[in-house]
Amino acid sequence: MRPPKANEACWCGSGNKFKRCHGDSSRRVRAGEISPFREVPKHIERPSYAESGKAVRRPEPRVKSADVIERMRRTGRAAAEVLAATAAHIRPGITTDELDAIAHAEYIARDGYPSPLNYNGFRKSLCTSANEVICHGIPDDRPLRDGDIVNLDVTMFREGVHGDTDATFLVGDVDPESQRLVRITRESMERGIEAVRPGRPISDIGAAIQEHAEGAGYGVVRDFIGHGIGEQFHTDLQIPHYYSPHATTVMEVGMTFTIEPMITMGSYRFNLWPDGWTAVTSDGLRTAQFEHTLLVTDDGAEVLTALD
Ligand SMILES: [Zn+2]
Repeated sequence: MRPPKANEACWCGSGNKFKRCHGDSSRRVRAGEISPFREVPKHIERPSYAESGKAVRRPEPRVKSADVIERMRRTGRAAAEVLAATAAHIRPGITTDELDAIAHAEYIARDGYPSPLNYNGFRKSLCTSANEVICHGIPDDRPLRDGDIVNLDVTMFREGVHGDTDATFLVGDVDPESQRLVRITRESMERGIEAVRPGRPISDIGAAIQEHAEGAGYGVVRDFIGHGIGEQFHTDLQIPHYYSPHATTVMEVGMTFTIEPMITMGSYRFNLWPDGWTAVTSDGLRTAQFEHTLLVTDDGAEVLTALD
């Protein structure tokens, strides 16, 4: 791709001039080269979309059977292991493609399929979202830089079920304000998890997250939300991370879904890169995210993607 001239529109779709957006002096994240598709060994069980690249939603009970829950515990735990094993390699200079290769091998070592791989055509085994990237960043040849923050989002398919978890990590020496953003975001996820209670509406979750994040002076992303999960990567349950009066579905024991707030230093509005995946903050300010897969229990939530 030819880089735009200074006064031409930026390649990223922001509508701004290149020189004011991703111009040479900019510290913004740039799109890099994406490496070839990584194969998954034949013996590993695949989700329905693995070959076609098209995820077709089918009906699935919101309340899971004991058998499904037991499998989701095992798969969720394995996903958490992949996340931790991959994150251990984060350092200035490593590319997100190298992290993808590491994660890909870690899934396979556990007989798991990387759920993002070919999900609606996504080409990699995890999402890597740095700095102003809200979510769905595609691993590429951009090296992480000292002072970056980066989210790794891992989902594994194994034993017929998915487990989905992500976290934001510090790369080298990170400025205090970015560290605060990461801390508040983790706390916001925890507040959301604490709000899970059978008999209560799903809107309680977003209300708790929004109170904590906005109380710290940050924004809550509206356009990407938590989701039901189980035998499918995404089911029909929707979990907004802000208070929505429409989120009236009542939580029931045995429901499984993700809580994955994306918290922004500035505006919660987003732009989408021309790759159709990478969502960035419209103002270019940093954003962080944390995610777990949860099971609603008699007295709250069980985190299915926790390590011991
Ligand atoms: Zn741009």
